[in-house]
Amino acid sequence: MGSLICIKNNKAYNTDPKIIDYLNPDYIYIPYEKVYNLNIKIKEKVIKESILLTKDNKNIYSPISGIVLGVTNMIINNQKVPCIVIENDFKETTKKISPAKKNIYNYQKDEVNKLIKEYNAFNKNLAGNLMLINGIDLEIYEETYKTIISKYSSEILETIDAMYDIFKCHKCILAIKNNDSKIIEKLVYQIGTYPNIELKLMPNLYPLGHKDILIDELNLLKNNNKIIYLTIEDVLAIYNVLRKKRPITEKIITISGDAIEKAKVINVKIGTSLKDILNNNINIINDDYKIIINGLLSGYEVESKDVVITRKIKSIFINSLDQEEAKECINCGLCHRKCPVGCDVRNNYKLDKCINCGICTYICPSKINFKDRVVKK
Ligand code: SF4
Ligand code: SF4
Repeated sequence: MGSLICIKNNKAYNTDPKIIDYLNPDYIYIPYEKVYNLNIKIKEKVIKESILLTKDNKNIYSPISGIVLGVTNMIINNQKVPCIVIENDFKETTKKISPAKKNIYNYQKDEVNKLIKEYNAFNKNLAGNLMLINGIDLEIYEETYKTIISKYSSEILETIDAMYDIFKCHKCILAIKNNDSKIIEKLVYQIGTYPNIELKLMPNLYPLGHKDILIDELNLLKNNNKIIYLTIEDVLAIYNVLRKKRPITEKIITISGDAIEKAKVINVKIGTSLKDILNNNINIINDDYKIIINGLLSGYEVESKDVVITRKIKSIFINSLDQEEAKECINCGLCHRKCPVGCDVRNNYKLDKCINCGICTYICPSKINFKDRVVKK
């Protein structure tokens, strides 16, 4: 791998350190792919956590109780996609479920994987002998993982330790950044109870939060290690699924940027529209803004606020429009030299290795934007 870079934190974004709940939107939008079987009809009442769509034992659950209004187009991954619209009745009616095990250490591997799939925690089947937990927010000004660790440190440590035990791992690493003294202090205070968890403090370099880069930097692909890779968000989802036996219907995201008054980390229902989140939680101070999903460097711009919050969204940036225009390439070679995987984006060379980190665009003194060339969505 090539060199990692230090991104200058040159804009003082003012972030609220607490997670704010916004769990009562008027409407929820659930992407509807025709390959799924539809379990509902228009005008039908649905309860929270009822199954809306199914395919090959994969279920899509309703995050709210309410009435099915129909289908409308919304933005998902920068494309217009038909979505089922559910109008919230704000009752949060739900069904009774069979109780979960009191002690999460008592689950077996197969049971854990079954519950992760059944309750839609994430799309992975866990197997391996070395567990790596990524607690590093990939992008500058993204505070999602950091805030989750701060709020749920005991739940996270208990779950990591239980997973280490259940999957009979020989090593377990929790990687976080070395520049957040509050999180480090909190974890160091509690981690004594969990001698199996090795806390790794990583330098504040980009893109260390990328899975492949982190594995490479920690030199974990040796001795035939089979890695169970989880993000902090995955760990929290496992905790919820094992402890409560309920589907995952909420998502924690960072909303930041220089066109808003205060950056916030918000817990929202999956399927909430960005328009609702902004209208009810964020004070926009500059109307000439652009919306960037999942990071200033590696993210992508969207044209409309009709974006729906899905599992894949970690952060949303509301940033003032750029004034600077691109100039001619001066052949400085920085875009090639600083690429962490050795791509030469000027000459379209080896772009299949591109991890979409955005360093080439960030580093270019001529402000040339390579995003269209390298972005793989
Ligand atoms: S070519 Fe891809 S991997 Fe290389 S710096 Fe650009 S975005 Fe990152
Ligand atoms: S960083 Fe920009 S100016 Fe330098 S070689 Fe690459 S494209 Fe040209």
